[in-house]
Amino acid sequence: AIDFKWIRDNKAAVAVNLKNRNSNANLELVLGLYERLLNLQKEVERLRAERNVVANKMKGKLEPSERQKLIEEGKNLKEGLLTLEEDLLRLTDELQQEAQCIPNMTHPHVPIGEEDCSTVRKMVGNPRNFSFLVKDHLQLGKELDLFDFDAAAEVSGSKFYYLKNEAVMLELGLINWTVSEVMKRGFIPLTTPEIVRSSVVEKCGFQPRGTNTQVYSIEGSDQCLIGTAEIPVGGIHMDSILAESSLPLKYVAFSHCFRTEAGAAGTATRGLYRVHQFSKVEMFILCRPDESDSYHEELIGIEEDLFSSLGFHFKTLDMASVDLGAPAYRKFDVEAWMPGLGRYGEISSASNCTDYQSRRLGIRYRPESSSTNPKKGKGNLASTLFVHTLNATACAVPRMIVCLLENYQQEDGSVVIPEPLRPFMGGLAVITPK
Ligand code: AMP
Repeated sequence: AIDFKWIRDNKAAVAVNLKNRNSNANLELVLGLYERLLNLQKEVERLRAERNVVANKMKGKLEPSERQKLIEEGKNLKEGLLTLEEDLLRLTDELQQEAQCIPNMTHPHVPIGEEDCSTVRKMVGNPRNFSFLVKDHLQLGKELDLFDFDAAAEVSGSKFYYLKNEAVMLELGLINWTVSEVMKRGFIPLTTPEIVRSSVVEKCGFQPRGTNTQVYSIEGSDQCLIGTAEIPVGGIHMDSILAESSLPLKYVAFSHCFRTEAGAAGTATRGLYRVHQFSKVEMFILCRPDESDSYHEELIGIEEDLFSSLGFHFKTLDMASVDLGAPAYRKFDVEAWMPGLGRYGEISSASNCTDYQSRRLGIRYRPESSSTNPKKGKGNLASTLFVHTLNATACAVPRMIVCLLENYQQEDGSVVIPEPLRPFMGGLAVITPK
C-alpha cells in the first residue's frame, strides 16, 4: 500500500528528497503511471456498471430481438472488461516496480550530502596506546591459528572463511552474550528462516533483482538468501492488524547473512572485514508512529552499551542522506577503532524505517481509541494505521572479531578476552599461540 496520492500531493518535497538522496527513481514516470491507473480504474468501473445494467434488463420480460441485442451487448462488455482488467494488472505491476526505487522521506536532522557529511553524535573511549608494533587481525589469526581463508577459497570462493579453534568459541560466545544482553532489555529472541520469498525482500525495501543487487537469488525459484534477519523478522507480521496493546514488539534475532558485495571493489576487503557470509544478531522493533524516534534512540543506546562493555573506542554517526538505504528515514552508524586496520570501521547500523516497510508488508495496528468502532473486525481496515519499523545491529560477528583481536592483542602475540565474554566462552581469558 504505497501512498501514491500522498506522493502526487507532495511532488515537490518528494523531488527534493530524491535529489538529496541521490536517487535515480523516476518520479515523473511513477506519477504518469499512477494517473493512467486511476483513469483505467474509472473505465473498468464504468464498464462494470454498464454490465450490471444490461444484466438487470435481461431479468425482465423481453421481445426475442431485444433479448438478442442485450446478449450481444453483454458479450461485448465482458470482453472489453477482460482486456481492461488485464491492462490494469499489468499497469499496477509496472507502477509497483517503478515505485520500488522511491526511497523513504528523510528526517529533518539528517545531514544532506555524501557519506563524509555525516555528523558525529558521540565519541566513546580513546584509542589504546600500544608500546609495540600492532598486527592486523589477519596476522594475529594466522599466528594463533584462528582462520583458514585458503581452504575456504578452494571450497567456496574468495571472501569466505573457516573459523577455527578459539575463534569458533569467540563467534558463539559473542552471539550468546549479545542475545542474552538484549533479552534482558525485554526483546523476544528469534532464529529465522534464511531463505525467503523475493517478494518479501522487495517489500522490505531491498532489490533482489538487477545487476548491482546485494541479494543471492536461488535459481529456478522465487526465493533468495537473506542479507539480514531484518527481512524474515519484518515479514513475521506481514498482512496483519496488531492490537495497539501488543506494541511495541521488540525482537532480537540471530541469523546468518549472505551478501554478493557487488560494487564493493576498492573497499577494505582483506580478511574478515567484508565477506559473503556472516553471523549477525539483529534487533527489530514494531511500534506506534509517534514512538519511533524514541525507540531509535533506545536502539543506538543499546548498541553503545554493548560496545562500551567490550571496551571498544568508537563514534556514533548521524548518517548523511546519500548513505541512507531506501527504507531508512534516519540511520545511526557506529564506527569502532581498529588498530591493525589503522582506522575506524563500521560495526553497526540502526535505522528508523517509519512506515516504509509496513506499508509494503501490510503491517497495521488498530489504535485503542478506535476500539469502539462498530466496524471493527478482522479484515476491516477502517481506522487502522501502519506501524513503524526499526532495525539495528547488535553484533555482526566478523567485524567484532576484527575489533576484538586488534584491540586486545598483547606484545607476546596473545589476545585477551574481554571480561563479559568469558563466561560465554567456557571461562577462556586469553588466546595464546599454540
Ligand atoms: P547493514 O545491514 O548493511 O547495515 O550491516 C550491518 C552490519 O553488518 C555492518 O555494520 C557490519 O558490521 C556488518 N556487515 C555488513 N556487511 C558485511 C560484510 N560483507 N562482511 C562482514 N560484515 C558485514
